[in-house]
Amino acid sequence: MSDLRFDNQTVVITGAGGGLGKAYATFFAARGANVVVNDLGGSYVGDGKSVRAADVVVNEIRAVGGKAVANYDSVENGDAIIDTALKAFGRVDVLINNAGILRDVSFKNMKDLDWDLIDKVHIYGAYKCTRAAWPYFREQKYGRIINTTSVAGLFGSFGQTNYSAAKLSQVGFTETLAKEGAKYNIIANAVAPIAATRMTATVMPPDLLESLKPEWVVPLVAVLVHQSNTAETGSVFEAGGGHIAKLRWERAKGALLKTDASLTPGAILTKWNDVNDFSQPDYPNRAADFMALLEEAQRLPGASV
Ligand code: NAD
Repeated sequence: MSDLRFDNQTVVITGAGGGLGKAYATFFAARGANVVVNDLGGSYVGDGKSVRAADVVVNEIRAVGGKAVANYDSVENGDAIIDTALKAFGRVDVLINNAGILRDVSFKNMKDLDWDLIDKVHIYGAYKCTRAAWPYFREQKYGRIINTTSVAGLFGSFGQTNYSAAKLSQVGFTETLAKEGAKYNIIANAVAPIAATRMTATVMPPDLLESLKPEWVVPLVAVLVHQSNTAETGSVFEAGGGHIAKLRWERAKGALLKTDASLTPGAILTKWNDVNDFSQPDYPNRAADFMALLEEAQRLPGASV
């Protein structure tokens, strides 16, 4: 298990010209994969473009005998990225939606451009790349997807309303892809990485960045996208600096109130402790769990829903 291989598989990594994406690309190439190194080559706030970022990584991979091709499209053009994989290697097996930018600004000063650019790269970009790969995954009954979320999305982060909203979207996106893909052996998971890259150089203290190499996130992603993973799907993990943990939703005990005129704000306040009671939580992972909860509550003695 210590030497998971990816021979004859094609791994597409978006935003692979630097940071985490570069670490993924060099790892998968070293483990036998054909790698598509996508990168638009712009700045971390999304200005400009250049072929250099992707080319440098492709050259590094080829220099040590690996197989890689570059693609310079924005992730908004997902069809062209998947096309590069098909033309160069004839198939696509793994998609790592990793490309990202930041447009940090307090909500008070948020401009539509800051909001829209983040949305385009993180949400629309991940959608377009996945949408382009999906028919091939279904057809071959095999696909592995990683979407990139963030602790900023999961927990909120000052100055990052745009980024938080976009990053949490990747959790819902992943959870539904996992459900729709199950029948076709398409596995989708989300990773919230923490790593020292040009992106975090602006938001993390220098001494902390030292201990957070992107390389420490890669092995978890390798485990999740390997063919041996047939069960772990629709999950969210955080990984960085050697720490790896799964995250999940937790539901409190909750209050059940009669659905009539007595369901007032005041009635909720009298049950506020139950609404917040996590002493015996459950862990819902399907929308249907909510209906099941109501049905169960209806069967309780004295209950009237
Ligand atoms: P990075 O800036 O080093 O890498 C992001 C790469 O994406 C860059 O090479 C950039 O050129 C590329 N890119 C940007 N827009 C693109 C587009 N439209 N099309 C194609 N490529 C594009 O940053 P990173 O830290 O390696 O970030 C990788 C991913 O991890 C991002 O999605 C980021 O939001 C996420 N993330 C990172 C951290 C962290 O601690 N570094 C934390 C949480 C989430």
